[in-house]
Amino acid sequence: MISIRQVSKWYGSFQVLTECTTEIQKGEVIVVCGPSGSGKSTLIKCVNGLEPFQAGEIMLDGTSVGDAKTNLSKLRARVGMVFQHFELFPHMRIIDNLTLAQIRVLGRASEEARDKGLKLLERVGLKAHAEKFPGELSGGQQQRVAIARALCMDPIAMLFDEPTSALDPEMINEVLDVMVELASEGMTMMCVTHEMGFARKVAHRVIFMDQGRIVEDAAKDDFFGKPRSERAQLFLSKIL
Ligand code: ADP
Ligand code: MG
Repeated sequence: MISIRQVSKWYGSFQVLTECTTEIQKGEVIVVCGPSGSGKSTLIKCVNGLEPFQAGEIMLDGTSVGDAKTNLSKLRARVGMVFQHFELFPHMRIIDNLTLAQIRVLGRASEEARDKGLKLLERVGLKAHAEKFPGELSGGQQQRVAIARALCMDPIAMLFDEPTSALDPEMINEVLDVMVELASEGMTMMCVTHEMGFARKVAHRVIFMDQGRIVEDAAKDDFFGKPRSERAQLFLSKIL
């Protein structure tokens, strides 16, 4: 579903990604971890074309992300992205947040978009809040809305960038629960997160990044059993 081959990226003379290579199969859940500044967000943004890269190739369901001929907004519509800060439109009701892109980007009729939005709100346990504004919801609820909004687009894969790191501790699990459910339904997921309980429960593989490189790309049990690199061992010893 997602193939990342020898991807390098520079900000001016600073190399932020160095020859990153990995593949994510359909239905696979990959957790990406590593120290702050190691390039996790940059890599995940490259995957759906939010950031350009200067070398290598990324294929998304057969389409080359870096190809100048690729219609990036069309491609992005097919990949769900959930950020640390929920980025809902604050001046729009929850249901309108969920229908906007369905109508504008996918061309769905508003009735159909609304039905879909309500169905997904129900799935994340928030149907009763459809007519509220984002500011009336807790952080955990807003993040669940953000996930529902992404799912409204029938994405072929979901990308998460530290979806729980801005939340109060008591709200983390309600968001992780939704992600666990998604994973169990076979969604292809690339998740930047330091929630190692989540990784142990649902990840198929764990990628560890350091200074812009993928230094570890291992099956979950191998990663938690004994990471090969000293850097990953040290990282794990600090967060577990
Ligand atoms: P992570 O998500 O792992 O914390 P990032 O991908 O956000 O790391 O950042 C990787 C490195 O790239 C950091 O050193 C960061 O300062 C740098 N960086 C990120 N965005 C930019 C930018 N727009 N311009 C210059 N440097 C950036
Ligand atoms: Mg980041």
